[in-house]
Amino acid sequence: MNFLPFAMSYFRPAIDAMTGYVPGEQPKSGVKIIKLNTNENPYPPSPKAIAALQNIDADSLRRYPDPFAREFCQAVSEVLDVPADWVIVGNGSDDVLNILVRACAEGSDRKVAYPMPTYVLYRTLAAMQPAAVVEVPYDQNFQLPIDELIAANAAITFIASPNSPSGHIVPLDDLRKLARQVSGIVAIDEAYVDFAEYSALPLVQEFDNVIVLRTLSKGYSLAGLRLGFGVANPNLLSGLFKVKDSYNIDAIAIAMGTASMRDQAYKNANAEKVKISRTKLSQDLKDLGFIVLESQGNFLLVTPPQNNLEGNAEALYLKLKETGILVRYFNQAGLADKLRITVGTDEQNLTLINAIKN
Ligand code: PMP
Repeated sequence: MNFLPFAMSYFRPAIDAMTGYVPGEQPKSGVKIIKLNTNENPYPPSPKAIAALQNIDADSLRRYPDPFAREFCQAVSEVLDVPADWVIVGNGSDDVLNILVRACAEGSDRKVAYPMPTYVLYRTLAAMQPAAVVEVPYDQNFQLPIDELIAANAAITFIASPNSPSGHIVPLDDLRKLARQVSGIVAIDEAYVDFAEYSALPLVQEFDNVIVLRTLSKGYSLAGLRLGFGVANPNLLSGLFKVKDSYNIDAIAIAMGTASMRDQAYKNANAEKVKISRTKLSQDLKDLGFIVLESQGNFLLVTPPQNNLEGNAEALYLKLKETGILVRYFNQAGLADKLRITVGTDEQNLTLINAIKN
């Protein structure tokens, strides 16, 4: 047996130094739980996607899938009115985020910047590369800190809009100002756009350095399928295609994703239901003394009242967990007094409200 020289790690220093991304808890299958912690859609996927799964041709599984998922890109092209060769498909939008960081960021010369708080994976991906990060805090009103982000002059500036966990949406003119003044890529992460008032998609036509990222995990109820995509001009995509795994999208995801993308009516109807439930849940929580941020996502960032329970968010999170309701608690600066609650069905939301009352 070979032994490593004393104190030598199996891993690169960057990996030893970093903290891995911690996903929201996933209960074992069969455990009955109301799951309001990872912003999944409470409604099932489109029946047309399920039919596509049932009709999968065995031969399409014997062969490797299309490396560019062109059938899916064609559906995206028709639905979003963008050319099919402006689309890069990923194994979830996490995969596209990963491809972006691997292709564009490195060390202190090619930094990653983003406003905080936001999706923690941006930090994790930069730490892996490794690439230096510039984290700029949002102010209390969640105004985009444009000047600081411009000054960071990063290789990639990530903006989640709607943002998680705050739920706010970033005005298009702020994104335009940013895109105009940075020399690197502005990646606008629209994971929650299906529940929002507007999209930044027109910016990909206006700016060579903008990519908009989408997912089928939220609006389309397909988090388990792992399918996301980015839209940008072919020049921006060309470097990303070099980095992408050849077969990052499997044949099942291509078939189900294509059917789902073509069933906009079903997705939109569910999004409407979620938005109505979001308004009701927000009001019910406010009636209980919670501070609730206005949200354009399928979740709410809330601050429990100080007289609630032992008076803190973590205690409420743990108590709810005991009663079989999972919400998200982030033990980090600025969020430790808050919970992020995914909007469930009206019935699930009512169970949550009753549990909090008790
Ligand atoms: N971006 C944001 C802001 C998210 O919250 C998530 C989901 N956690 C993702 C991207 C990743 O989505 P997926 O990989 O499921 O497409």
